[in-house]
Amino acid sequence: MTAPINSDAVYFAPLLPWQTALWAQLTSRVLTPPHQLPHALLAAGTSGLGKRAFVWRLVAWLLCRERETHLRGACGVCESCQWLKSGTHPSLAVLPQQQMPIAIDSQDTALKTRDKKSKSSKASTETLQRIKVDDIRELQPFIYQGGQGLRICVLEHAETMTVAASNALLKTLEEPQSQVHVILISDHPAQILPTIKSRVQQLPLYRIETRLALDYVTTALGGVVNHERVSSDEIAQLLTLAEGAPMAAIGLAQSDWYGKRALWLTTWQALRAHKRSSTAASDYWQSQLDIDAFIALSELMLTDIQRLVLGLNMRQTDLDMSAIKDSMLPDTLSIADFAQKMQQIKAARLQNVQDKFAYDSLMQALSVL
Ligand SMILES: [Zn+2]
Repeated sequence: MTAPINSDAVYFAPLLPWQTALWAQLTSRVLTPPHQLPHALLAAGTSGLGKRAFVWRLVAWLLCRERETHLRGACGVCESCQWLKSGTHPSLAVLPQQQMPIAIDSQDTALKTRDKKSKSSKASTETLQRIKVDDIRELQPFIYQGGQGLRICVLEHAETMTVAASNALLKTLEEPQSQVHVILISDHPAQILPTIKSRVQQLPLYRIETRLALDYVTTALGGVVNHERVSSDEIAQLLTLAEGAPMAAIGLAQSDWYGKRALWLTTWQALRAHKRSSTAASDYWQSQLDIDAFIALSELMLTDIQRLVLGLNMRQTDLDMSAIKDSMLPDTLSIADFAQKMQQIKAARLQNVQDKFAYDSLMQALSVL
């Protein structure tokens, strides 16, 4: 049982426009005989699709006492809705236990934006606690207690289950209990055991009509990115870079680093041409962005550099890459080296390696990319 950060934003938020058909389909399945919803559901897909928003909204509605007359979402006033608001619902179990329901999928971005300079917030999102076999065992009394009324288990970041935890959950999934629903949420479904995936029904939350996504992102940004009017092409680019996930596209546009992509290219060029030392570049960028943001920026840039090397079109069509194309492109080996360096620094960050040290070594690597 977990207390949400803000229950209105989690359980009672408006339905996202691309989820209306799925919502209508699921709710009518529950309300018409034989009143069946699959016992196990999986909300999977890249971060920023609105998976969590949909799941928590569905959880609230399934538990709501007034759902028959509130087809569009939980009533917000019945006993069940009150329990959700106070974070004490006896029929809802959430794993991992410290996991707070967050409505928006791009919680990494949200955390970074809210708390740019805090290392601990970033570290805590990276070191998500794994779901262990004991956690699944502790769920058993809740699942097998019997009695009246619906009970729901939500497993957040389901891919963090250990193998033992997955096997324990598998047993539960193989003996579905009436009135019990298990809902898995995952940004990385490829890491979930296939045996688990074969026992859950995947919610098609990843199918988003492009027009709806474009409209949603445009409205959310008020047509402005980095204090400038943004064209529909730029919105389309944001969505492409975010793998089609609207909330991730919004997070990208609002990040403190998206507007510094051209600057990154300039630095890289200057480093390669030995017009700038890596320590000078490091000092400059430390005054611009924290290292986590710089790594996010570098990862994005590297994907497009890799595309150029492979002879593919760049996804960032707003950047002038002619200078890079004219000079020598890096080979695939040095791209792999740089990518590995970023991974090493990310890992070192969890051990509280200092920003300056991380920046210095990354700039050194960038100068030989
Ligand atoms: Zn209610």
